[in-house]
Amino acid sequence: MSHEIPSDRDRSFALAKRTHDLIRDYGPCATPRAYAVWYAYASGESPLLGDAVKRLTTQNGRLTELDIDDLHETYLDGRRLANAADDVGRMILTEIAAVTEILDLSLGSTAQYGESLRGLALDLAQGPPSRARLGEILSTLVSTTREVAVNNRVLEARMRDTRGEIETLRETLEATRLESLTDTLTGLSNRKQFEETLKATVEAARLRPSPMSLIILDIDFFKRFNDLYGHLTGDQVLRLVAIVMRESAGKQAQLARFGGEEFGIVLPGVDRAGARQLAETVRASVMGRELIKRSTGESLGKITVSLGVAVLRQGDTPASLMERADLCMFAAKRAGRNRAVDDAAESLSQVA
Ligand code: GH3
Ligand code: MG
Ligand code: MG
Repeated sequence: MSHEIPSDRDRSFALAKRTHDLIRDYGPCATPRAYAVWYAYASGESPLLGDAVKRLTTQNGRLTELDIDDLHETYLDGRRLANAADDVGRMILTEIAAVTEILDLSLGSTAQYGESLRGLALDLAQGPPSRARLGEILSTLVSTTREVAVNNRVLEARMRDTRGEIETLRETLEATRLESLTDTLTGLSNRKQFEETLKATVEAARLRPSPMSLIILDIDFFKRFNDLYGHLTGDQVLRLVAIVMRESAGKQAQLARFGGEEFGIVLPGVDRAGARQLAETVRASVMGRELIKRSTGESLGKITVSLGVAVLRQGDTPASLMERADLCMFAAKRAGRNRAVDDAAESLSQVA
């Protein structure tokens, strides 16, 4: 998706605002480095950094200059990723060397066996061997075959070890890949994964062709909630919205938090009626939950969400679909919040 569409611009300002709030609330002060760390935290782009920041703020209440330096060096200046790539690269090279060695050994022992069989065949071709010679040939044959069998067992064991290591390596790579596509706060997909899913779903729907819809959800007056109860409690609300989305959406739905307090639901095979129904279920279900602060039992009231629903049209790109869903979401805000607006012709004229 292009970075020039207005919604991306709005999003970047919302992120900048959130970054500013976070620095103010959790410190240390507004240096470029601290800004970079908090911006990365707010965008949710680096799940590992997110975890580290949460750990530090939970432990100490705020971040120090030293924390910022550490976080910056570890997660943002690329050294950590470069090191991780280096480690994986080294592991792959070691495994390739092991496999090559096994293949060499295996080829070597097969060649040796072939060689000794050829020698015996030559011997036999000289004419009928004496009884004693026949005995010798047979015993050589038996012992060489035994050697080969032992060799094969050793090779097999090494092959099994190497296979296990390669499997572990594959799992590590897969875990890293998934981590880079997940929003750690909610466990939903992050923006990167969301964009990939949206693109793939739009393409698939066009090829088939089949319906598809997109819902964008934004929490109402969330800034006020954060200001009243703090960002960490706000984060719990983000988790709650994710839980409601999970409970309400079907298996095919792809759920994402793609920035701050904005969520997306990609719905392959779902038409307007289905998408509207889901948007309504999520809206009603979020509103139906009373928020209780766990530590004090204090009631924090209820929150509401506004949703925009767009249905794929001929000629749509992922960006145009997203833009329409965004416009609908803003229309829902303008119409009083706590509602869903879809891009059917009549609502669109309200939107435009
Ligand atoms: P509106 O109803 O118009 O959407 O009002 P709003 O206050 O929700 O909208 P606005 O865009 O002004 O504020 C979004 C707020 O979301 C700003 C920031 O405090 C909060 N926010 C963004 N990301 C996070 C996050 O990761 N955690 C928490 N706790 N708050 C976040
Ligand atoms: Mg917002
Ligand atoms: Mg909001």
